[in-house]
Amino acid sequence: MAVADRDLIKKINQFNILNTIRGKKSISRIELAQITGQSRASVTNITARLIENDLIYEKEIKNSNQRGRKRVLLALNADAAYVVGIKVSAFMISCAVTDMQADIRSSVDLPVRTSNKPVEFVADLIEEGVSYCISQAGLTPSMISGIGTGIPGLIDRKKGINHWTLFYQKDNVPLRELIQERFDIPVWVENDANTVTLAHQWFGHGRGIDNFLVVTIEDGVGMGIVVNGQLYTGEKGMAAEFGHVVVKPMGNPCRCGKKGCLEAYTSNFSIISQAADILEKDRTLLKYEQVIDAANKGNTKIKKLFTHAGEIMGLGISGLIQIFSPKRIIFSGRGVESGDLLFNPMKKQLKSLTNKEVFQNCEIVIQKFCDTDWARGAASLALQELYKSPIDRIVPKI
Ligand SMILES: [Zn+2]
Repeated sequence: MAVADRDLIKKINQFNILNTIRGKKSISRIELAQITGQSRASVTNITARLIENDLIYEKEIKNSNQRGRKRVLLALNADAAYVVGIKVSAFMISCAVTDMQADIRSSVDLPVRTSNKPVEFVADLIEEGVSYCISQAGLTPSMISGIGTGIPGLIDRKKGINHWTLFYQKDNVPLRELIQERFDIPVWVENDANTVTLAHQWFGHGRGIDNFLVVTIEDGVGMGIVVNGQLYTGEKGMAAEFGHVVVKPMGNPCRCGKKGCLEAYTSNFSIISQAADILEKDRTLLKYEQVIDAANKGNTKIKKLFTHAGEIMGLGISGLIQIFSPKRIIFSGRGVESGDLLFNPMKKQLKSLTNKEVFQNCEIVIQKFCDTDWARGAASLALQELYKSPIDRIVPKI
């Protein structure tokens, strides 16, 4: 900046304060000044404005050290804004309304098969789900500040276009536009693994960590990358396609059209498909939980499936650790229900394939799967836009 833009600096300071309050849940003005490096006067001015706009509020708590004296802390007003999160998957559309802290106010799961359906049909179902959720939360559409949508596949985040997804097998679907024309509310579309990563960064195991990875094991294998506190999405927003890294050239066929992709061995879909052959069952009727059950009951062939999947996962993750040296890798999604069957062989593989010095600094966190995580993650996408740092908008153009 050649000339300091006073307005911009004000916005940046305001963002830093709001973001610090969000991170700390409740905090005094003095601590705010210490953490943000702003003067007490500046903190007082900015917090007064935030209180006036109902974004934060003051709460008094008793100070245990000084008898009788009360401390005034600042906290985020959860009701300052509401957003909607949508998660589209092969057999389900989930919608949730959350508040400013991403706490869910209402949610609904529509158990519908979305694969190979016209995209307009999918958009109509989303409209139904979102409208239902908004009214269940006792709100009206005009009270919703944004809609975040998470969907697997290659998503151009900037344009809101789906280049490729497993569902409607069509190129360049303007999903954002289709949702946007049904609601007069800003809409953002993002790869679903990235939305879960955002949720972790804001409210989960990624809180306060600058470098971490999220790996989602579902029908496909997704990933989110946070580097230096920022979600890394690549040049066109399509980075982190970990599931489609080829680990065995000319190996198992993958749904993306290639052969030997990591997810062709490790995803729930691939494990169910292979287990169906072993168990001589219809793969469309076989559930992932049943496959886990068969392994736990001693079916050695099925057990080997998981062991092999774990080893392949270990191979892929080892490469990620070597490249990113993250503080933490968080595993999420329905696939984590396989537990030790998958993760023990993965960890064994990691130890033998990764340089000790890099590996010992990386924590592996296996998060228990929760249905609402995904929709909450999509809501975080909309929240991120609401909180967005003005710094993001002054990237120099070369
Ligand atoms: Zn693939």
